Amino acid sequence: METTDGRRAHTAPLVLVLFGAPGVGKGTQAQILAEKLGIAHLSTGDAFRKAIAAQTEVGKQVQRYVESGALVPDELVSQTVAEELQKPQYRSGVVLDGFPRTIAQAQALEKMLRNLGMSLTAVINLVVPEEVIIDRLVKRGRKDDQPEIIRHRLEIYHKETAPLLHYYQTHSTIPVITIDGNADIDTVNQRILSAIKSRIHSDAQQ
Ligand code: AMP
Repeated sequence: METTDGRRAHTAPLVLVLFGAPGVGKGTQAQILAEKLGIAHLSTGDAFRKAIAAQTEVGKQVQRYVESGALVPDELVSQTVAEELQKPQYRSGVVLDGFPRTIAQAQALEKMLRNLGMSLTAVINLVVPEEVIIDRLVKRGRKDDQPEIIRHRLEIYHKETAPLLHYYQTHSTIPVITIDGNADIDTVNQRILSAIKSRIHSDAQQ
């Protein structure tokens, strides 16, 4: 964010959470956002899939959850993220993609960021109609994108993850920015970027 004399008005590292149901485009948007903003991208789903492929200790522990579309236990997810966030590449900021997914994880995140001297900048809530989501996921064709598993993941989203939005709205001052994600990749990305810019700009002026 540039001020009129070219200095950065907002010096704290950006920590963004990309939030939304499976298939709303979190991964795609997180990657583009991280590139454009010059910050890191951390996807817990990608981290787990890599760990499973390499059959690491964590990989073996999370495999059955990831492949059945269940949530990996909070402890294990939070521990993985806490370890990852220690790395220097996250010092300048991060787009979190797929984490937190439960209130317990949100609380764990708050603690880890505090320990790192960082704080959450905003939660970006991507919204896409369910029939579009199902169509996108079926076309993506990942191992956990089979119809019954998709249904299970959407159910878990509604039961465990969606309540997080209410949690952020009522228990924190962190802005929740809702974005209509039912458009092409560039359009959605522009919507997110301009929402972030106007929100951070208005916060910096307060
Ligand atoms: P994703 O790539 O974000 O769709 O995640 C794929 C799968 O990884 C999910 O269906 C879960 O099994 C697991 N996973 C990823 N992130 C989390 C998380 N924050 N909490 C629990 N499980 C997760």
